[in-house]
Amino acid sequence: MKDQAWFDELEARIPKGEVRTRFAPSPTGYMHIGNMRTALYTWLIARKAGGKFLLRIEDTDQGRLVEDAAEVIYRTLRDAGLHWDEGPDVGGPVGPYIQTERKALYLPFAERLIQRGCAYRCFCEKTESEEDSGDFSRGEDPCRSLSAEEAEARARAGEPYVVRQRIPREGSTTFHDEIFGDITAPNADLDDQVLIKRDGLPTYNFANVIDDHLMGITHVVRGTEYLSSTPKYNLLYQGFGWDTPAYIHCSPIMRDAQHKLSKRHGDPTYDDLLSQGYLKEAILNYIALLGWSPAGEREFFTLPELVEAFDLKGMSKSPAIFDPVKLTYFNSEYIRRKSPEEFEALARPYIEEAVTGMDTALIASLLQQRCEKLSDIPGQLGFLKALPDYDTELFVNKKSKTDRAVSLEMLRSALPAVEAIDPWDQDHVHDALIGLAEKLEVKNAKLLWPVRIALSGQAVTPGGAVEICCLLGKEEALRRMQLGIDRLAGEA
Ligand code: GLU
Repeated sequence: MKDQAWFDELEARIPKGEVRTRFAPSPTGYMHIGNMRTALYTWLIARKAGGKFLLRIEDTDQGRLVEDAAEVIYRTLRDAGLHWDEGPDVGGPVGPYIQTERKALYLPFAERLIQRGCAYRCFCEKTESEEDSGDFSRGEDPCRSLSAEEAEARARAGEPYVVRQRIPREGSTTFHDEIFGDITAPNADLDDQVLIKRDGLPTYNFANVIDDHLMGITHVVRGTEYLSSTPKYNLLYQGFGWDTPAYIHCSPIMRDAQHKLSKRHGDPTYDDLLSQGYLKEAILNYIALLGWSPAGEREFFTLPELVEAFDLKGMSKSPAIFDPVKLTYFNSEYIRRKSPEEFEALARPYIEEAVTGMDTALIASLLQQRCEKLSDIPGQLGFLKALPDYDTELFVNKKSKTDRAVSLEMLRSALPAVEAIDPWDQDHVHDALIGLAEKLEVKNAKLLWPVRIALSGQAVTPGGAVEICCLLGKEEALRRMQLGIDRLAGEA
């Protein structure tokens, strides 16, 4: 049993007079989109109030390598720009910030609750899952009525036990949620949940209350799956005589009307979205709007703009459906807003997946306005690497006033003009082709359409004849044009 000074010392460490929020992920090795959104809202509330954002790793249920999984959390949050003020790696006044490292804290608090009649030791055989604690319907647990002396004697004698919360049999418990309002649960519906497991580690249900209090958390942001347990947490706060934090329970993100987004069912994680070519800015902006509506019509927000605009009043009770089409729309808009240099840097690995040794700055400039996702890029550039097999029907185009015969004529004229280009750069290729159209007294399109088809084998390409010609290099451009001529002549 710890003495009062031990409790007082912990209380004295709690910072007062500031908004303090925490993101408390379990180290699973990946970041759910729903978790990322919780992190974002939690961060926004702290930043908006000029308060502190804490990171706490909740690893009491994890049999896996926590260290690596925690790294995933650090990397993801940092990369997204959600920096934390206190956490396992940066420390802070109320650490440690990893739950298993706080192990020694929980039992003394549980003993305090036992003393106050709000919890009891239960010696019953361990059942399948003590975690979910529905082992006994309340009142039937024989240990609930053991005398304090007997329970203590058995514990001292080394008999294994769990600590359970003693829920009052009568009455009801009410708590306030910032989104859902007042919620009342009859105490008869609440179970004597396990607080400390047989191995001495706390359950989430206990640890979240102790940690949130000892870390001075003022706003608890988490998913609605915790709504039904919150009356029990409130009874714990009451048992200790502590103030409860503000609760903000966020509605789930759904794949469709019936199903929550779930990695197990193949829905993407945050990392998956990144590797699918979505930009973090677009993902964060989009997920911010899943569960929160800004005042007004505006949809595009950078992180600092979100801090400005965010308001709990805009949070929604209804689940939100994750719409990849809408996310893609956000993504293309964010891509367009990048500077040419930024876009080139982002696009380069994807460009190099398709082609090497070409002018990536030029390719990037051709793609930026027509790219929805970075991962589309290699597919958009396949024709540069190898000329696809195409139908000469592509040479027929009403708008450019070309048919097969015209195209053959244009290509035959273009071939020597391209051959003569020196030095080989975009300006000279441009001048040669436009100069030729002038000389032939035809509209540019009449010449450029057949050249572009011969060079690309595609009706739609990033960039026009000049850029593609330039990218391919003289030799390959001439080869492809000759091929076009041969095919058209062969069919004539
Ligand atoms: N570790 C819990 C989770 O990942 C945190 C819930 C909470 O924020 O209280 O769901």
